[in-house]
Amino acid sequence: MRRMRRVKILATLGPASNDPSMIARLFKAGADVFRINMSHTSREDLAERVAAIRSVEEKFGRPIGILVDLQGPKLRIGTFEDGAAMLKEGDRFVLDDNDKPGNAKRVHLPHPEILAALEPGHTLLIDDGKIKLVCESVGKGKATTRVVVAGKISNRKGVSLPDTIIPVSAMTPKDRSDLEAAVNIGVDWIALSFVQRPEDLAEVRKVTRGQALVMAKIEKPQAVARLAEIIEASDGLMVARGDLGVEMPLERVPGIQKLITSAARAQGKPVVVATQMLESMITAPVPTRAEVSDVATAVFDGADAVMLSAESASGQYPIEAVATMNRIAEEIESDVTYNAIIHSLRTEPEATAADAIANAARSIAETLGLKAVIAWTSSGATGLRIARERPLTAVLTLTPNLTAARRLAIAWGVHALVTEDARNMDDMTDRACSMAREEGFAEIGQRVIVVAGIPFGRPGATNTIRIAYITPEGSA
Ligand code: PEP
Repeated sequence: MRRMRRVKILATLGPASNDPSMIARLFKAGADVFRINMSHTSREDLAERVAAIRSVEEKFGRPIGILVDLQGPKLRIGTFEDGAAMLKEGDRFVLDDNDKPGNAKRVHLPHPEILAALEPGHTLLIDDGKIKLVCESVGKGKATTRVVVAGKISNRKGVSLPDTIIPVSAMTPKDRSDLEAAVNIGVDWIALSFVQRPEDLAEVRKVTRGQALVMAKIEKPQAVARLAEIIEASDGLMVARGDLGVEMPLERVPGIQKLITSAARAQGKPVVVATQMLESMITAPVPTRAEVSDVATAVFDGADAVMLSAESASGQYPIEAVATMNRIAEEIESDVTYNAIIHSLRTEPEATAADAIANAARSIAETLGLKAVIAWTSSGATGLRIARERPLTAVLTLTPNLTAARRLAIAWGVHALVTEDARNMDDMTDRACSMAREEGFAEIGQRVIVVAGIPFGRPGATNTIRIAYITPEGSA
């Protein structure tokens, strides 16, 4: 089974799609990676979902990626005497450490760390920004604010703090046990919510120990401010536009999306554009023109993947949403402007053998009009370095490591195949050529380029390029 597009599709599972037969249909419609959101999934359900995805993988004989998204430290206010209160513009409103139910003058903020970190002038956004408070003064165990955007405030609404660095771990005790469960069950990617600093990723890595790749969700201004260090500390990035659009003015989100996409591309770290891509398809079988344009922008920017959230998790049209994304991606990638735009955003390779070879392979393949760049990779790293080049030519990776193939399911343009390691140079080209032929990427008489590391099976040793003809026997 071969996708006719380079950008990948991530579909979030949920009540509308958890059923194993739905997972199979979503895969057939175009989903390459499934996201399990731990904000809404128990650990028992996680095990069930993973088993269902793995059985679909076996049925179709194609590696499928699983990304587990940790809930992160979602901060919330306490409760109100009447369940809610009306705040008026210009009113004073106090957040304090008193756990009595609140009213229109005050409410409990059960996070002493926020009360300690708030400073006059800092903004507090309640309920996804529907209410905006600005801190005027701080005292022991309380912060006095002024209501800037008024409205109804109710029990346990979320609090966002765009200006405040909160000295809390990006992982709550729930996240930690979800993370351990996800790693033990063998998922491929872990996404960390509300990352503020590179150290947050290091904390996750202490648990994953290389058993899963770690994706930083960029959804806070603090993370945007330290983007380069966070990219360095992570294996992939998510432009989490939902919370980003709460914590920052909405009109800044498109620019930040471009910044994150291009910076991640430059480093060869997979980048996912997420949230509200086809939002109206939660309740309608067709998207809006603006949503189609939004998906197209991410595809033109060369994002590795585009993501569906509620559209596939709880919407009325999950299959249609995936199929629509698939169609948009195929159409945009065959647009006459696509190649020029994708290539104009390409950056120079890093001064490493893997990048020099990936760059040379892409250049040779494009110059000679070869049919595919085929990379032998044990960890998947060579596959990512070739994807970083965004070649016009198809990219196949061959690996004996199923985990590496699953991880590569998220990477731009990579068609990952699992096969035992090459025995020698002839086997390396023969098998690469016959698999490219079997998978429909090249025919007898056409040429491909094969990239490998010799001796075989040693990670990080990419050092060989070979141009080969496809022959009935294998290669020449
Ligand atoms: C987001 O905020 O855009 C996002 C992807 O995170 P979540 O769906 O977990 O809120």
